[in-house]
This record gives sequence, structure tokens and C-alpha cells, in this order.
Amino acid sequence: MKVGVLALQGDVREHFSALIACGVYPTTIRRRAELDAVEALVIPGGESTTISQLAKSFDLFQPIRDRISHGMPVYGSCAGMILLADHILDAKADQESFGGLDITVRRNAFGRQVDSFESDIAFADGTPTPVRAVFIRAPWIEKIGSGIEILAEVDAHPVAVRSKSILATSFHPELTGDHRIHRYFIEEVARGALQQVQ
Ligand code: GLN
Repeated sequence: MKVGVLALQGDVREHFSALIACGVYPTTIRRRAELDAVEALVIPGGESTTISQLAKSFDLFQPIRDRISHGMPVYGSCAGMILLADHILDAKADQESFGGLDITVRRNAFGRQVDSFESDIAFADGTPTPVRAVFIRAPWIEKIGSGIEILAEVDAHPVAVRSKSILATSFHPELTGDHRIHRYFIEEVARGALQQVQ
């Protein structure tokens, strides 16, 4: 499977390593032609407003939006989740997302940088072992629309969700060395979505 990591800002290298550990050799995406060459995309954690502004400067914003709306499998962590949400609360003025997931997220909902935390949380991928989740100025999901499955929650707030082709987490599995979430994206979300298209 050809997977790209959006490489405009954020923890690109960590997603790269996690994907390689799952047997996928990804490419960096900074140009339209690079986007056109991949089947699935990972949007890293970082700063969602910066990533969306850079995506516009690099003429990638609309092409990414179009690919997502045509069913390209995507995984977004933290800022990546914000960029995949159809609705953002506490957004900066003019902040736009690629969208695709019918959810409403609140930016920085778990507090400021100093309130970043780690927690072992249940993840609904059929295995009983909890996932170590790192939250850094993380968003949570306030509203879930149609076709969204909740995979993990913290204090009754969804922090991992999926639709048919999109996976999003408020936390950063790319920082822990536990590749279960990336494997779930590749094996369950992306492979399933791509098989349906073929
Ligand atoms: N708070 C950041 C934002 O709104 C996300 C933080 C992160 O990705 N760790 O974009």
C-alpha cells in the first residue's frame, strides 16, 4: 500500500517510523504530484492552523480535501484529527479543516501545554490490552455525527473515532513505540476502504 505522510509541519518522522514498523514504507507529501501518487495519507500531530495554512501555500489544501471526499483512507493524530473534523470549536479566526469526519472537535480541550498527560485507555480493536495514549494540548470530540464509530474515550469524551475510510485520535500513538493504532489504520481502515474501491 502506498501511504504518504503530510510533511508540512509536526511529528512527521515519528509517524514514518511507526508506519515502517507496520511494514509500510511511506513517502513524504509536500507536492501535488506526491499526493497523487499515494493511496492513503497520514496527517501528523503538530499545529492544525499552521498545517492548514502551509497546505494552502503548497497548493495542497483543496486537492487533499477532494481526495478525502472521494474516499482516500486517512489517519490524523491530534492536530490531524482537528484537520479531519467537519466542525471545530475554539478555532482560530479563518481556521479551515480538510473535513471528512462528521464530528465537532474542541481544540486544546484537555487544557494548555502544561496539562499534557498520558493515560492507558481501552481501544476498541478487539484486543483487551489498553493503549498508552499521550495527550498534548489535545482536542476532544464534543459531537458525533452519522457513520462515526467511537473507538476510545477519556472521561466520557471520545478521543478515537473512525468512519469507513478515516481514523482520528486526539492522542499521539506515534510517540509511544506501540504501533497498534497505525496497524489498525493500515489493516482495518485503509485496506478495507481500498478493497471496496477496487
Ligand atoms: N493544539 C494543537 C492544535 O490545535 C494540536 C496539538 C497536537 O497536535 N499535539 O493544532
